[in-house]
Amino acid sequence: MGLLSQGSPLSWEETKQYADHVRKHGIQQFLNIYNKVKDRQKDVLKWGDEVEYMLLSFDHKKQKVQLLLNGSEILQTLQDRGEHINPNHPTLWRPEYGSYMIEGTPGQPYGGMMSDFNTVEDNMGKRRQEVSLILKENQSLASITSFPRLGCPGFTLPEYEPTPVDERASKSLFFPDEAINHHPRFSTLTRNIRHRRGEKVVINVPIFSDKNTPSPFVETFQNDDGEATRAAKPDHIYMDAMGFGMGNCCLQVTFQACSISEARCLYDQLATICPIVMALSAASPFYRGYVSNIDCRWGVIAASVDDRTREERGLEPLKNNKYRISKSRYDSIDSYLSKCGEKYSDLPLTIDKDIYSLLIKEGIDHLLAQHIAHLFIRDPLTLYEEKIHLDDTKESDHFENIQSTNWQTMRFKPPPPNSDIGWRVEFRPMEVQLTDFENAAYVVFVVLLTRVILSYKLDFLIPLSKVDENLKVAQKRDAVRQGMFYFRKDIYRAGSPVVDGCCTTAQNGIETDAEEYTLMSIDAIINGKEGVFPGLIPTLNNYLANMEVDVDTRCTILNYLKLIKKRASGELMTMARWMREYVAQHPDYKQDSVITEKINYDLLTKCDQISKGFCKCPELIGEPVTSKTSAKRPQE
Ligand code: GLU
Ligand code: MG
Repeated sequence: MGLLSQGSPLSWEETKQYADHVRKHGIQQFLNIYNKVKDRQKDVLKWGDEVEYMLLSFDHKKQKVQLLLNGSEILQTLQDRGEHINPNHPTLWRPEYGSYMIEGTPGQPYGGMMSDFNTVEDNMGKRRQEVSLILKENQSLASITSFPRLGCPGFTLPEYEPTPVDERASKSLFFPDEAINHHPRFSTLTRNIRHRRGEKVVINVPIFSDKNTPSPFVETFQNDDGEATRAAKPDHIYMDAMGFGMGNCCLQVTFQACSISEARCLYDQLATICPIVMALSAASPFYRGYVSNIDCRWGVIAASVDDRTREERGLEPLKNNKYRISKSRYDSIDSYLSKCGEKYSDLPLTIDKDIYSLLIKEGIDHLLAQHIAHLFIRDPLTLYEEKIHLDDTKESDHFENIQSTNWQTMRFKPPPPNSDIGWRVEFRPMEVQLTDFENAAYVVFVVLLTRVILSYKLDFLIPLSKVDENLKVAQKRDAVRQGMFYFRKDIYRAGSPVVDGCCTTAQNGIETDAEEYTLMSIDAIINGKEGVFPGLIPTLNNYLANMEVDVDTRCTILNYLKLIKKRASGELMTMARWMREYVAQHPDYKQDSVITEKINYDLLTKCDQISKGFCKCPELIGEPVTSKTSAKRPQE
């Protein structure tokens, strides 16, 4: 989750003193990069996935599963056996927020060849394999979005008591600081978010009200000094620490575009797709040992890193702060970046006016200037004593400091200084899936979408306020089958290239009219609906039919698209729905919304077997057809 500098982290009070310094030099660093590489063209398509994992420890005698807190050690071993001795090693490993988490990516980015799609799953398999060689027999690597009993007593190994009275990182009633990655970045972020906000973060997730769930559902909290009782809402699962959000796992994809304008176009087009794919990937129905009424982690993470003060949240008149801010640092994007997007950018945008004027004066166009000036309303959250004074022509730490703590659905990434990397965009909303097959399927689906967006000059743009409404719907329970989403009806902009000379209609100044988009089900959006919408999968199939693809790769892609198609139609379950049904049918489940230790153990044991291919799960994954040579599937 971003920049990892070594050094002595400053307290919030100290960091605050340097906020303007970081912003000023951050902007200078951005301008230096921009001026050097703004005209770069003809970079080639490159892309890569990031999978976040949790380390589990099973106690089969006690029928208990815990999160294993030795991520740093595992990471060190993985790097020592991999990238540290071989620059071409096929995998790369990075730390993540939890000390029970690690993140894996391919060693080299994938390129523009169709056959690359056939190697994604294999590479994910290698990652699991590398980790399994290090883990002990009862330990396992799990790609699950949220650990159902995160924050319940004894959820880690070794076990630790939370320390709500100690002025360390979280002060959580539930989440011990030992479960936070030991690299100082993570505990500093946690503490500084809390200090900046002026109180602990507050996460309230609606509980799923089952037959025997108390109504109203109200908890009493041990060791509470009153803050929890005030913050917890009735009929909600209350959580009070960054770890409840950033301690969840996701699946991300980053693309290098051939130019800055292509990157800006992809950023906008994919932003509209975020809620749709989020709903399709839903995998996190349980929080702190309870069944919730949501299926996705997004809002939980947003609340878990919400460093806005009461003034900024609009609860008190502005006195010490500059702005009211409508969203957390972790949330959906607030403005489009391409010319075609301009007329659909209908959200009120808080910007740093001085930074905006400076950027304009330096020749940055309005859309990019407001994007950066919006990101830069935030304060830096971590700063290292050794990294305060930098050479702005060679380094970008201050820019990255602000950029990498704006965790939005999409991220627009300028190249690092003095590198041969091009302009990139990151697609960030997806929940991680249980198996490599599913994760590869979602990744390939998204990458193929970028191919058709560019080749067919597709246009998915709708007002951003509608995209935000979609994002809310996407997180609801069973949104895939029950949610209705605003989507553009006519996605073909015949003859008007989306990139560069961008969309003639926008330039003619035609107002957006409600006729351009309508409410559709995910099934209609993905699979099409006669007379209404062609469907994304039929569009992809059309594209594939015109491409040279070897038989084996085609078979792999078809299986991936089949998974997406059937998840969209409801024929296959999302992970969230599957987990809910598993719990509902568990003999110990008392229809009281409680995930007991035993239920959690059985559920994660089952998940483990599925992800290792020891057991089939056709209702979740289907029955992929295999060609002779394609990679092993869990079903085989
Ligand atoms: N784990 C976070 C999520 O689930 C993402 C952290 C990152 O940006 O790497 O969205
Ligand atoms: Mg990450």
